[in-house]
Amino acid sequence: MSALDPPPASLDRLPVADLQRVGPRLLARLARLGIHSVQDLLFHLPVRYQDRTSVVPLAQLRPGVTVQVQGQISEAQISYGRRRSLKVWITDVAGGGAERVGAGVLLRFFHFSPQQLAALRPGVRLSCYGEVREGPSSLEIVHPEYRLCGCDEEESAADAPRLTPIYPSTEGLQQPSWRGLTDQALALLAQCAPGEYLPPATLAGFQLPDLRAALNYLHRPPLDASLDDLTERRHPAFLRLAFEELVAHQVSLRRLRLAHTRTPAPILSGDGGLRQRLREVLPFALTPDQEQAVAEIAADLARPLPMQRLLQGDVGSGKTVVAALAALQAIESGRQAALMVPTELLSEQHWKGLGNWFKPLGVEPVWLTGRHKGRERTAILKAIAEGRAPLVVGTHALIQQEVRFADLGLAIIDEQHRFGVHQRMQLREKGAQEGGAPHQLIMTATPIPRSLAMTLYADLDLSVIAKAPPGRTPIVTVALPDERRAAVIARVQDACAAGRQAYWVCTLIDESEALQAQAAQETAQQLGEWLPGVRVGLVHGRQRAVERESVMAAFAAAELDLLVATTVIEVGVDVPNASLMIIENPERLGLSQLHQLRGRVGRGAAQSHCVLLYHAPLTAQAGERLALIRSTLDGFRIAEEDLKMRGAGEVLGTRQTGSLEFRVADPLRDQHLVSAAQRAADLILASHPELADPLIQRWLGRRGEFGVV
Ligand code: ADP
Ligand code: MG
Repeated sequence: MSALDPPPASLDRLPVADLQRVGPRLLARLARLGIHSVQDLLFHLPVRYQDRTSVVPLAQLRPGVTVQVQGQISEAQISYGRRRSLKVWITDVAGGGAERVGAGVLLRFFHFSPQQLAALRPGVRLSCYGEVREGPSSLEIVHPEYRLCGCDEEESAADAPRLTPIYPSTEGLQQPSWRGLTDQALALLAQCAPGEYLPPATLAGFQLPDLRAALNYLHRPPLDASLDDLTERRHPAFLRLAFEELVAHQVSLRRLRLAHTRTPAPILSGDGGLRQRLREVLPFALTPDQEQAVAEIAADLARPLPMQRLLQGDVGSGKTVVAALAALQAIESGRQAALMVPTELLSEQHWKGLGNWFKPLGVEPVWLTGRHKGRERTAILKAIAEGRAPLVVGTHALIQQEVRFADLGLAIIDEQHRFGVHQRMQLREKGAQEGGAPHQLIMTATPIPRSLAMTLYADLDLSVIAKAPPGRTPIVTVALPDERRAAVIARVQDACAAGRQAYWVCTLIDESEALQAQAAQETAQQLGEWLPGVRVGLVHGRQRAVERESVMAAFAAAELDLLVATTVIEVGVDVPNASLMIIENPERLGLSQLHQLRGRVGRGAAQSHCVLLYHAPLTAQAGERLALIRSTLDGFRIAEEDLKMRGAGEVLGTRQTGSLEFRVADPLRDQHLVSAAQRAADLILASHPELADPLIQRWLGRRGEFGVV
């Protein structure tokens, strides 16, 4: 568009394609981030700001920190290792141009142009910005943002804003493009006010900046803005947007809830026969917390409205039996139940575990995963469609299109933090027929503080198992540097010699299953050599199901002493005789994930130990995190700290694409806004329903469509 065009009528109707220098490729990349209109662009806010004025001396660099550094190129060469790269060493030049050269850092470029290669030659001075990490031989920064310090250095430094916004991005979209795009969007914002979707009564209660001022501030902080206020997101401009975002989420979830209450669900009262028989064969009695959850669920299932209930309980708290009783209630009522879990291994365990429990009852669960192919798969699908499968246990395979249930009455989702809202809805839709919907039970081991749960799961009711079953000895956790590996291996030897079993968990930064599997393979081999007489098994995500199944079965039957595994064992796996767990590189995992892993031991009566074998030196924050894990077994406390340190999105799983993805708001930090946001949402739904759609569209975009149902 040119400057002569009339101002746009509405920013949300103005496609980004109309901006200058937006071609088909850029358009596709923006679309990947959900950016279609100029309004989308304006609400795509910086994740952080760079303070380019403070330069960290090279001698003070530490892995894991993102810094601005300056130095002189001492050497530059192309290296032809596993991957071709350009390696550029820069070193401190001591003040006054003396010859004494100080510390250095390696800059590594995997992609570089001939122009870059020509420009980055010894003697040139650079100013760079990026994350420092531990390379094979020295500290390095991969693909730093950099600029040459030439003679016009003073000039360009004066031009540069003090706080440079950094936008969340996608492959092939660099920061300068973002700045160009947002410059154009802000120019349009100056001509055209953004739509105001909060009710006047709500706005009157706040002393917050208007939308336009808030957006301008956050995209282009003025010279006197405080970096701390921006980083901590305390500035009123943030609050203004965070509040509106919380309102949008509340409106979307509440509408979803309303929609649920309008759809009928089958009444699953059951005669209690199967449930009674299960209680008779169980080797334990339910705890009071479990009983309460069972009662709450039973009451929901007996109503003609679809249950939407979240069952929250720490790892090992005994959620499975609660789910089993719910499933039996559905089966007693002549309906099918489905249990969806995030990994194949877990689906296998549930299928077998529930199969054992249900065998005396004459109920045989069916197992369906991506591995079931050909004729076997056809037979399973047929059994499900003809209603001959009372309980179907499986992975995402359950929500594939070909899967048709005859009569799904209850859909259960385990470890729901690994799924997104969309998948939860898809499973629900599986059972939707003749205008009815199945009941849903959603289970999670991430213990979320209640106030946070209210924000994130405003469309759900909540049951909590707060206390674990009795008879467990608390796990003792220690942290050791990996130089002590030999001593730790000796400890594994001792434990196994004493008839106990152990896990050895390998973690990698790279989440790719292939690399994880490779690391675990190497570790298993090495441990096998070091520990003659110890029977070592290996489980990872790249094995065939049969292979993994037989290894797990052997471990559960105590035919293996040591199980080397990737983090695939994080969810659900249950072997009560295992009492020692070694976790390599625990500093790379989130606290909640560590807690989940550790929950694999401490399930029997024996004293259990967890060894966190970390790689020194730890950053101060990593040290604090490990200290916290060592000091408590309280999953709520750990989750709360984890949330504080990393934010809700990361803790609860980046796969959560729906209600958990906030752009500006942080449901934990902004807790004080939550109840006001709920009131505003109620007001909108009751008195200003026309605001709901544009508000949801602005903040949730297409993700909000599930709120419409
Ligand atoms: P999670 O909540 O992590 O899914 P599980 O359902 O796997 O926990 O239960 C963990 C272990 O505790 C299992 O071995 C289970 O059989 C056992 N368990 C569950 N409830 C009780 C109980 N009331 N008393 C004793 N053991 C129980
Ligand atoms: Mg479980």
